[in-house]
Amino acid sequence: MGLIHTKMLVHYLRHEKYRLLYNINSMRLLILVIVLIDFYYISAQEFTLPEDTEVWNPVPRIVDTFDNLAPSDAIILFDKDSLNNWQKINGNPADWEVKSNIFTIKPGTGDILTKQKFSSVQFHIEWRAPRLSDESGQNRGNSGIFFQERYELQILDSYNNKTYTNGQAGSIYKQFIPLVNASREPYVWQNYDVIFIAPTFNDNGSINTKANMTVFHNGILVQYKVILEGATTYIGKPKYDFHNNGSILLQDHGSKISFRNIWVREIEVP
Ligand code: MG
Repeated sequence: MGLIHTKMLVHYLRHEKYRLLYNINSMRLLILVIVLIDFYYISAQEFTLPEDTEVWNPVPRIVDTFDNLAPSDAIILFDKDSLNNWQKINGNPADWEVKSNIFTIKPGTGDILTKQKFSSVQFHIEWRAPRLSDESGQNRGNSGIFFQERYELQILDSYNNKTYTNGQAGSIYKQFIPLVNASREPYVWQNYDVIFIAPTFNDNGSINTKANMTVFHNGILVQYKVILEGATTYIGKPKYDFHNNGSILLQDHGSKISFRNIWVREIEVP
């Protein structure tokens, strides 16, 4: 209720001429209204100092940050010379080529995924597509990051490379077109920063809250809180099937994509 309206109401209700028109019950109602109005004024007047609206607890914990390096509370998935945090789907060691602080897909050897499983995460990865002038569309520098082994953020050389737009770089494959195309030329390093919020399920296995993703491609917002309709599918409509926490998976789609500086932070959402 606005202040002017409140004042008018008080004036109206308190006016002798009208007060006499009310019976006892109306008077009780009138008193209640006046008490409520007084309470409204008192409540409004409680917060008169700047300190009244300051919050001092809880205190956010400290995270140290560095230019081009993982923050202090991140889990490093790759930063130097080892794929120890990764494995093949069958559990065998990941054997993609590791050299000079980067690693590169060995086409035909299959996807690799993190040994650790995650729920909601903030994720950083740097990737580089090869020059494949003879290839086009989905065959030019294709890979992908599957959160919880199911929800794909597409990796593709989308620099002057036409394909279906919900399958280009920065798309949530077959679900969401990126807001813009922020792709760099092939063989130039690119990066994704992602917020992946995991889905939650009811006790009977049905979906409770759907997954959502926010993605920056080379620092540019390309997906904002898009709500996924289910696990990524190549054919047909996506749908949710119950699952627990899952690995982050990198796709072997036959292209020699390279990667470096991969880290993840587990995040809790209210
Ligand atoms: Mg892909």
